[in-house]
Amino acid sequence: MVVTMDYETLLGGLKAAHLDTGTMISPGLARLLACQAGVIPVVLGGGSQVLDVGRKRRFHSEVQRVALGVRDGGCTTIGCDRAASWCEAHHEVAWSRGGGTSVEGGRLLCSRHHHLAHHPSYDTTHHPGRKISFNRRE
Ligand SMILES: [Zn+2]
Ligand SMILES: [Zn+2]
Repeated sequence: MVVTMDYETLLGGLKAAHLDTGTMISPGLARLLACQAGVIPVVLGGGSQVLDVGRKRRFHSEVQRVALGVRDGGCTTIGCDRAASWCEAHHEVAWSRGGGTSVEGGRLLCSRHHHLAHHPSYDTTHHPGRKISFNRRE
């Protein structure tokens, strides 16, 4: 899948991104997709010249994904018991803010909680034991 978005969108702007199918998706969904393996974002600068096609190293490799599964066991949200096979690898620090793809910088989240992790209305709280919880902002 190829996601096309301009640089401001990737960094949190409000403009929409486009899938290669022509479908418009929200910037939040675009960043959620970009957080997961298998997506190659094409970042466009002014005048739509291509700035960056898929820095694939940003994505967790299959080996790292397995390591995350062994360490985290499943969704790392407090009170969630989704197994690792249902989870997605999430970057603790978003790639757009300079985060890497190391196992240390990643965690497993189920689809629902991964959405919350990227939702602009939710704050993430970190707890001992690498657990996190989400709180809706006022
Ligand atoms: Zn994520
Ligand atoms: Zn979960």
